[in-house]
Amino acid sequence: MNTPKVVLITGGGRGIGAATARLFARHHYAECINYKTNSETATKLADDIIANGGKCITVKADVAQETNVRRLFDTIDQTLGRLSVLVNNAGIIKKQMRLEEMNAERINTIFINNVTSYFLCCREAIKHMSTRHGGVGGVIVNVSSGAARSGSPNEYIDYAASKGAIDTLTKGLSLEVAAEGIRVNCVRPGLIYTDMHADGGEPGRIERLKDKIPLQRGGLAEEVAEAIYWLATEKSSFSTGNYIDVTGGL
Ligand code: NAP
Repeated sequence: MNTPKVVLITGGGRGIGAATARLFARHHYAECINYKTNSETATKLADDIIANGGKCITVKADVAQETNVRRLFDTIDQTLGRLSVLVNNAGIIKKQMRLEEMNAERINTIFINNVTSYFLCCREAIKHMSTRHGGVGGVIVNVSSGAARSGSPNEYIDYAASKGAIDTLTKGLSLEVAAEGIRVNCVRPGLIYTDMHADGGEPGRIERLKDKIPLQRGGLAEEVAEAIYWLATEKSSFSTGNYIDVTGGL
C-alpha cells in the first residue's frame, strides 16, 4: 500500500476543522488534529477515525505561540512523517460590539489567534515542504471568512479585519512559494452552523440572518470541508492564490 499523505488541520477538533478531518480520513490521509483546550472532542474524533481504520494523532498546541507551533510540527515529523497539506483553520471571535467599545487586549487577542498563528504555521510548513529547503512541495489551505469582504459592522470588525489579513497572506505567500512546489489557496466560509456564533454572544445568529443569504439557509461544516479538500488535492493542481467562497451566495 502507498504511504498516506500527511495533513495537519489546526483547530481540527470541532466545527469546520472536525468535518475536514473526517473528510480527509475518508480519503486515507494520515492526520494530525490540533486543538487548543478541548481535548475531549479532539480525542473522540481521533478515536472514531482510528476505529474506522484511519491513521490519526491529536496534538494540543496553542498555534498563536511560536514554541507550541514548533513542537506541533516536530511531533508530526516524528510520528506521521513528511507533511503534505496544512489546513490553517483555527480561529476565534469575541462578543459582538462596535469598534469604539474594543480595547487593545481584545484586538490583539483576535489578531494573535487568527493572524499570527496562520503566519507561524505557514512558516513551519514551508520549511518542511519547499524545494528550497530540500522538500518535495505541498499545499496550504487557509480558512478565511466572508467577513473579510463584509467587514462585519456592529458585530466584530476586528475579526473581519483579521480575516482580510488572511486573504492578503494567501495572495502574497502563493506568489512567494509558487516556484518551490507549494500551492497556497483560501476558503471563505459564510454563515456556518458551528459553536463559533455562541462565542460571539449570539448562538442563534444564523437564524436571524439566514433570510439575507441568497440560498436561504446557513451552511454546513461539511460543505466547507469539500472546498478545503478540493484545494488540497491534485484536482486543483493549476490553482494557487485563489479563493473559494462557501457563503450561499452572500
Ligand atoms: P469553532 O467551532 O469555534 O472551532 C474553532 C477551533 O479552533 C476549535 O477546535 C479550537 O480549539 C481551535 N482554536 C482556536 N484558537 C486556537 C489556537 N490558538 N490554537 C489551536 N487551536 C485553536 O469554529 P469554526 O466555526 O469551526 O471555525 C473554523 C474556522 O472557520 C475559523 O478560522 C473561523 O474563523 C472560520 N469561519 C467560520 C465561520 C462560521 O460561520 N462558523 C464563518 C467564516 C469563517 P478547541 O476545540 O481546543 O477550543
